[in-house]
Amino acid sequence: MTIRFMPIILAVACVGCLNLQQRTPEEATMTSLRNAYQNLRFPKSEYGGQAQRPAWWLCRPEEIADICLGVKKGRCEVIGQTTAGFPLFAVFYGQFDDGGPRQSSWAASSSSDAYECYYGKPEKQTIVWATGFHGAEPEGVVATLNMIQLLETGKDLRGRSYPKLLELAPQFRIIFLPCVNMDGRAISQDHLQGTDKVTFRKACQGEWLDGQPIEWRESKRYFPLPLERVRHPGGYPNADGFNIMHDATPGNIRTPEARAMLALIERYAADFFFNGHSCEGKPFMIMPSEINYQVHVERGLELADAVNARLVEADLRSGMPKKAATRTINFNNLVSLTSGGLAMSNELNSWADSFDDMIEPNFIIMEVILESALKKPLADRAALVR
Ligand SMILES: [Zn+2]
Repeated sequence: MTIRFMPIILAVACVGCLNLQQRTPEEATMTSLRNAYQNLRFPKSEYGGQAQRPAWWLCRPEEIADICLGVKKGRCEVIGQTTAGFPLFAVFYGQFDDGGPRQSSWAASSSSDAYECYYGKPEKQTIVWATGFHGAEPEGVVATLNMIQLLETGKDLRGRSYPKLLELAPQFRIIFLPCVNMDGRAISQDHLQGTDKVTFRKACQGEWLDGQPIEWRESKRYFPLPLERVRHPGGYPNADGFNIMHDATPGNIRTPEARAMLALIERYAADFFFNGHSCEGKPFMIMPSEINYQVHVERGLELADAVNARLVEADLRSGMPKKAATRTINFNNLVSLTSGGLAMSNELNSWADSFDDMIEPNFIIMEVILESALKKPLADRAALVR
């Protein structure tokens, strides 16, 4: 029996091989994305997101893949795989011909007499724009996909144009990482508009087995979150329970997501790293951490203040946050150590009145940052080493 059927089995297997060989890289990426769902321990949560999302509100892993793989003016690269096996997409705009190993690292060269041995002499500043660190916060992801569409076609997915941004963007090298935490995104809802505080907590930081929400600060008592003790982990962590935002222990980076980002930041000597988030409050730019170069703290304070003033002006928030450095230790601290770049985070408002208002602040932030960068470098390496 076994022998008689073997040729048939072999023939079927060979057709399978042929199919595999004929697949385009895009098809292979989509297959790995679909397969990653099988590695998830938890299903997509049912918290919130009841209101119909607009057609332009793209935030599911396959929608992220569609936009990234479809770029023509930009270049899409899969820079790594998440814990569950989702592809990590990066979309590049500008000339990136410095992919080879550098002569030195930032750490070494900044202590030498020539930091250019690492940094080189780039004509344009390099921006890494990363969103979706926390999977239950889709706003940044949606905003980034809209920005990519804007750079591709002159209009975002809503048909809006941002002439100022279109004029500024080509004066920089920009790398978009639309969704850092694809694992968390895959098990999160499309949005949290209209949810109550408890539901919001459960969707974001998770829910213990007894149904109690895991509070925001409480979630950080664990690294990783003990997944066997939760009913649902929310969209905060990756599939192993790690909060990528705090994967910042030198020499012991736990997540493939953080490792892939750090490699990218070092390889292209990022000048500025945008770290995108959302919360239930009004949008704002978070003040920089004081655990950094003094020059970066001052530049960060100045930028955060300028962004927040513009958000007030646009009626997206009332009142200015206090202009004082935080003491947070998170992924941003590693950016300065890796490339000498300045890293900053923001919060969008998941409870904003309209879907437009949920993403609008990121367009403002991008414009303020780029405009300011043309007047004064975002990370002035010469000033850092002086
Ligand atoms: Zn967040």
